[in-house]
Amino acid sequence: MRFPLALTSKIAKYIIGNKIRGKKKFATVLQLEPLHTCNLTCTGCGRIREYSTSLKDVMSLEDCLGSAIECKAPMVSICGGEPLIYPQIEALSTTLLEKHERIVYLCTNAMFMRRKMRGYMARELALHPGGGMEGKINRLQADGLLTEKDVAEIRKGPKDINAPVMAPHPFFFWNVHLDGLEYIHDLIVEREGVFKEAILGMRMAKILGYQVCTNTTVYKETDMQEVEDMLDFLGEFGVDGHTISPGYEYDAAKADMVKRLNLQPDDFFLTREGTREKFKDMPEWSKRYSLLGTPIYHEFLAGQRELECSAWAIPTRNIAGWRGPCYFMAGAGHFKSYEDMLNDVDWTKFGVNPATGEARDPRCENCMTQCGFEPSGALSSRLDDSWKNLVYNFAAKPKPNGRGREVNAYNGVTAGRGHLTGEQVKKTMAGPKIEATAAA
Ligand code: SF4
Ligand code: SF4
Repeated sequence: MRFPLALTSKIAKYIIGNKIRGKKKFATVLQLEPLHTCNLTCTGCGRIREYSTSLKDVMSLEDCLGSAIECKAPMVSICGGEPLIYPQIEALSTTLLEKHERIVYLCTNAMFMRRKMRGYMARELALHPGGGMEGKINRLQADGLLTEKDVAEIRKGPKDINAPVMAPHPFFFWNVHLDGLEYIHDLIVEREGVFKEAILGMRMAKILGYQVCTNTTVYKETDMQEVEDMLDFLGEFGVDGHTISPGYEYDAAKADMVKRLNLQPDDFFLTREGTREKFKDMPEWSKRYSLLGTPIYHEFLAGQRELECSAWAIPTRNIAGWRGPCYFMAGAGHFKSYEDMLNDVDWTKFGVNPATGEARDPRCENCMTQCGFEPSGALSSRLDDSWKNLVYNFAAKPKPNGRGREVNAYNGVTAGRGHLTGEQVKKTMAGPKIEATAAA
């Protein structure tokens, strides 16, 4: 099967149950942002810019769990900011998995992923000294994924044996942000070395038995051949699934781009037409790669059909409340509860009319993002769509094609092709230099 049976059945049962009860609007995925602090400053990230005045604030563990209980979505995507900075991330993730039986996607830039997994290893080794962890330690050390110092730390054991850790779980996924191969990814995240660390983290996770997926945002300059190469490369070490979606032009990100990097947003973000051109091969890719999402959304991205926006199905909860109407836009404000958001947002004012192609709000005009349109595919009541979803989910998982071994993934700083990024860019205001290197 393309995705684990327990996972697919859990989601299907939840959707069917709501439909039988006659519920028109309900949440399928909760986007939970316990904090907006991040250790990176990616070009195009609206979060760290829009919430720049509350970067130090965090949601309490109680509030985080309360929002999951409140909206009932079977999947919780913990994002941010960088969620691995959240002080109670282990408790949050473990409680959602074990007590509330949710599927958890932890969206991360992977810079702290190996550290968190070492925490799990230390606890596991202390609890089961004769178990399989010794063999895994040897393998990880041989593969250069653990240093001698790391191994010594693991052997010391955890400070508190009862403290929760980020352990593998059938419903837990690391969801790693990856926007291309080394050169492009490091350019977009504005720091060299991030791609390399993300790959080390994912390889280590697969050896330890975690489920791993990636999320990739496609921009105007994204070379789709490079995305395909990246999928082949990731397939070689067993990455389980991929989300690929078009970049949305946040107001905050656009303003930052002009001010800080001297870049023009129109050169960076996709229009609807541009999205369809970039994603024209999605339906075909979904046969060759484990793409997350529905075949209906893939057809929509490829321009083969229209969909209504269903942003209410993937609500966002953060320090300011329930963000309406969607993850991208707080045009209707922040609400006290999910129910308030459902009732008080005038949903007829957002999205794009599928019959006329007319945007109901100018900010929706170029949006074809996953948060708005993926649920429309999953929730479609058309019989042919339900059949398509069923066939897609129960189809055999695509196997790596071997091309990944030939991909030149480390084509950036590792190959001596560094570029000015991060702090250096700020100091030199080297916008034109970024453009020149991006096109190189
Ligand atoms: S890692 Fe994520 S939250 Fe952090 S700056 Fe990049 S896109 Fe934004
Ligand atoms: S179309 Fe996009 S921007 Fe508009 S409400 Fe839906 S998800 Fe948000």
